[in-house]
Amino acid sequence: MELIFEKSVAGRRGVSLPDADLPRTTELPENLLRRKAAPLPELSELDLVRHFTNLSRRNFSIDTNFYPLGSCTMKYNPRILEDVAGLFAGFHPMIAQLPGGESYTQGTLGVIHELGALLCEITGMDEVTAQPLAGAHGEMTGIMIIAAWHRARGNKKRFVIVPDSSHGTNPASASMMGYEIVTIPTAPYGDMDLDLFKKAMNSEVAAVMMTCPNTLGLFNPHVREICAIAHAHDALMYYDGANLNAIMGKARPGDMGFDIIHLNLHKTFATPHGGGGPGSGPVAVKKGLIPFLPAPRLTKSSDGNYALEPHNPLSIGRMAGFYGNFGILARAYAYIIMLGREGLIRVSEQAVVNANYLKSSLKDYYDLPYDLPCMHECVFSAARQLQQGVHALDIAKFLIDRGFHPPTIYFPLIVKEAIMIEPTETESKSTLDAFIAVMKEAAELAAKHPEALLQSPEKMPVARLDETRAAREIKVCCPLL
Ligand SMILES: *Cc1c(COP(=O)(O)O)cnc(C)c1O
Repeated sequence: MELIFEKSVAGRRGVSLPDADLPRTTELPENLLRRKAAPLPELSELDLVRHFTNLSRRNFSIDTNFYPLGSCTMKYNPRILEDVAGLFAGFHPMIAQLPGGESYTQGTLGVIHELGALLCEITGMDEVTAQPLAGAHGEMTGIMIIAAWHRARGNKKRFVIVPDSSHGTNPASASMMGYEIVTIPTAPYGDMDLDLFKKAMNSEVAAVMMTCPNTLGLFNPHVREICAIAHAHDALMYYDGANLNAIMGKARPGDMGFDIIHLNLHKTFATPHGGGGPGSGPVAVKKGLIPFLPAPRLTKSSDGNYALEPHNPLSIGRMAGFYGNFGILARAYAYIIMLGREGLIRVSEQAVVNANYLKSSLKDYYDLPYDLPCMHECVFSAARQLQQGVHALDIAKFLIDRGFHPPTIYFPLIVKEAIMIEPTETESKSTLDAFIAVMKEAAELAAKHPEALLQSPEKMPVARLDETRAAREIKVCCPLL
């Protein structure tokens, strides 16, 4: 397919702008002014629309195909929520920053405040900041809050404990904030090894970060005990709540003993995501951590008005401009109200039932390193297929030819040739059955005609890419680069 620059024809235009009726000003210094026109592609509007429409048709998306990418919750999100987000599109984020501006933004502030109250109810926490712009950003915010809490108590802490099955952003966030990471191996029962955890715990541990359920799709039955041990050492318990669609309405991290949690609104609470954005990772905390939340805090006074509180000296400061990714907050708010308590419970039940259905349908065909009832996702290994020279990657490529986006592969790192499948709550049994049939076909081919799998994908515009070379040797095709 031609690049947009290759389609450029000198002089072709997609817009027609009237001549400026204001005097030309040159406020910029002469040496900063462009001497030649920018080398942008020149296309008609129709050329442009076709270019991007055709590109998008070569893409897998949740609108076109089943997308069982483990750990990502690629689910259907009701379209009506786009309308809800659109209701706020005309709202200028600067308004509330003006003196008295809060009076014009009561509705917007109300959405954030009420969403916060709902998320507190769902997680069992006391207050929420909606500022963080992604899950990983929420983790960073959370670790900064933890560090500020320890500083205020005069605690000297060096370590953050993470299980080796944790999502990679957990140790990365803690390390970015200056902590040393202590990694606890996974026991044969699929959870952080409890004895090794107890040995690793000491008074220099600032926090224990747990992805729950973990990236094997398993929920650690010892969480209460782990929380109690951590608290006895004046360490805080951090819950990575990106996978909340596994427990929502069934169990609350706050009740289990966790002190702080981030959520991925763009996974659990509607908002199509992928390709890097957009995201929203609110952080909810227990009472003792409220003073450290990002500024400004949003409060509701007794007369029912919402206000942005001035800077609190203990606060970690601002984590995002304006209100965070407000459109995502509006979608999440509407989604929660739309589904209600019963609906959210059904989401979790359906996500877990779907994953267990896939797991039991495929366990005779693929190795299952941790054969336990799973939560919202399950992790197979292609170790058996590897004996025939077929890797998890080959199975993933085969699925593409059959119209399915591949599951996550080679993650979690603790499973050899991992195939991590998250069906989500929104897929029908017939879609799951079609996927299961193709996974079985792949397993049978791997056993009888492994060479057939090594050629896939055959129906795509390009087959196997050298992904390392693609990242290392970027072809300079855009004259702007
Ligand atoms: C997706 C995910 C994250 C990171 O969230 P981003 O929004 O991609 O930064 C963290 N932890 C878990 C368990 C996740 O699934």
